[in-house]
Amino acid sequence: MKAPDFRYLKPKTLPECLSLLAEHGDLAQVLAGGQSLMPLLNLRLAAPAVLIDINGLSELSGIREADGSITIGALERHEEIAQSAIVRQRLPLLADAAPHIAHIAIRARGTIGGSVALADPAAEWPACCLALGAEIELASTRGRRRVAAADYFQGLYTTARQADELVAAIHFPPAAPNAVHAFREISRRRGDFAIAGLALAALRTGETLHNVRLAFFGVSDRPILASNAMAALEGRPLGASMIEAACKALGAELSPPEDPAYPAAYKRQVATTLLARILGDLQAELLDA
Ligand SMILES: Cc1cc2nc3c(=O)[nH]c(=O)nc-3n(C[C@H](O)[C@H](O)[C@H](O)COP(=O)(O)OP(=O)(O)OC[C@H]3O[C@@H](n4cnc5c(N)ncnc54)[C@H](O)[C@@H]3O)c2cc1C
Repeated sequence: MKAPDFRYLKPKTLPECLSLLAEHGDLAQVLAGGQSLMPLLNLRLAAPAVLIDINGLSELSGIREADGSITIGALERHEEIAQSAIVRQRLPLLADAAPHIAHIAIRARGTIGGSVALADPAAEWPACCLALGAEIELASTRGRRRVAAADYFQGLYTTARQADELVAAIHFPPAAPNAVHAFREISRRRGDFAIAGLALAALRTGETLHNVRLAFFGVSDRPILASNAMAALEGRPLGASMIEAACKALGAELSPPEDPAYPAAYKRQVATTLLARILGDLQAELLDA
């Protein structure tokens, strides 16, 4: 099928783009990498009257560290993030997660802003934002605001972003010297969206974990923090009984939506297995270090 008719606009400046968004609101869609939007248009699952192409806006590119925060512009492509020296050194969770996103051709075009705007519940970047306590910067003619990832992802493809707002950038706190992280997912084939996945971020003192954040994706209508499993791991040396307790807590707190392809009980089992494997590997890593 072919996309329905739409008006194509390519603003040259950010203020011009924000004015167009204010003018067209719900009738417009932003075009970033097009890796989700173009299939949706061609399948006629989306039919915006206006497409606002943001690819010419250099203000939305770049990865910078300043004032204790690492800022990734909305137009940064998945692969640029994977290859970035700053990301590899200061946000290694993102570098580990990136190769799991789709295939190289899609990673070469798709953007972090597009992923965060779309808010697919099985996507990698939203879970990483949640695990790392990132803030999403939204820009409109009304000004700019930052929303914590925990408040930004609100449901199935639903976020705190208003129709006239652009995702401008994502702000991440850089990893502390004693930070540990892990990323794993299970998908049917390499490059598919995850059946279930986990992004873990924590601080360590010896073999003890603090500030543990377990962000699961693919198991709810949005990325979620498994707070009971996190509490089971907090502040005690990581050992077999704690791993068992965390997995038990996770099994009790997860309630994935029913899905004909992957029943809730199966997703719960996959998520619990991922947690057990990640924690087992982490325990070995902490003992070695
Ligand atoms: C075969 C296939 C497999 C895929 N597998 C995965 C996967 O495993 N994991 C994964 O995470 N993704 C996957 N994707 C999606 C891919 O990562 C997309 O790149 C991403 O979801 C959207 O980014 P984009 O830049 O292409 O956005 P677009 O497709 O251009 O836009 C997506 C949506 O976000 C809006 N939007 C885009 N940018 C902004 C912005 N800055 N501000 C406000 N709104 C904006 C658009 O209006 C649109 O509604 C897959 C895609 C395909 C086709």
